[in-house]
Amino acid sequence: MEAGAKLAVIGGTFDPVHYGHLIAAEHARVQLDIDKVIFIPTGRPPHKISQAVTDWEHRLMMLQLATSDNPAFEISSLEEPGRGFSYTIDTIHRLRSLNPATAIYFLMGADALLTIDTWKDYQQLIALCSFVVVTRPQYVIDRSNPVLADLPEEWWLQMRQVEIPAMDISSTDIRRRVAAGRTIKYLLPGLVEEYIFANDLYRGGMET
Ligand code: ATP
Ligand code: MG
Repeated sequence: MEAGAKLAVIGGTFDPVHYGHLIAAEHARVQLDIDKVIFIPTGRPPHKISQAVTDWEHRLMMLQLATSDNPAFEISSLEEPGRGFSYTIDTIHRLRSLNPATAIYFLMGADALLTIDTWKDYQQLIALCSFVVVTRPQYVIDRSNPVLADLPEEWWLQMRQVEIPAMDISSTDIRRRVAAGRTIKYLLPGLVEEYIFANDLYRGGMET
């Protein structure tokens, strides 16, 4: 990207992608005047190791179906299984070297910030990118929370909190709905819904 451009990254399992992800990406993009948002599906999420995760190819395909109508959205295969980048810190280092003169914003929901202490080398992340935390129903950024209380002051100075339209939608709920034969219509793009049914995803249930 050109010098001075603003790049945002949103990482996740996207199992499956839904309107919560898309609203977060689009509203953060507009509010922060970001040029491009890159969705990075995790290969083998280190924090979901004990849990079954749908094949990377299916998650990637659903992301493509969900984002193809937004010219500011892109998908990265940096964390494709086998490529070796499965920690955020490594991915951001790589993006930094690919885009040396670009501001990088790391987007996450409030729930993700509450797990930041489990991320590899998270203290170093703040030097590589700016954090943008978007509101998510049921998760409150309360500095008395022990994880947040441990965050260095420079994080609070640098981190932006962005209010987005509330979407009480999660991939976990969508997977459970499919397994139980309940509707998922209007929780995610119609093309993704069709893909899920055409490929028989989530029907058997995957929760442990
Ligand atoms: P799961 O239930 O499997 O954990 P999820 O819905 O939380 O899925 P992830 O792929 O874990 O989706 O999330 C990727 C990123 O998107 C995280 O930073 C998460 O906080 C954010 N996010 C997901 N859903 C929402 C939502 N409804 N509102 C705001 N942010 C969201
Ligand atoms: Mg999640």
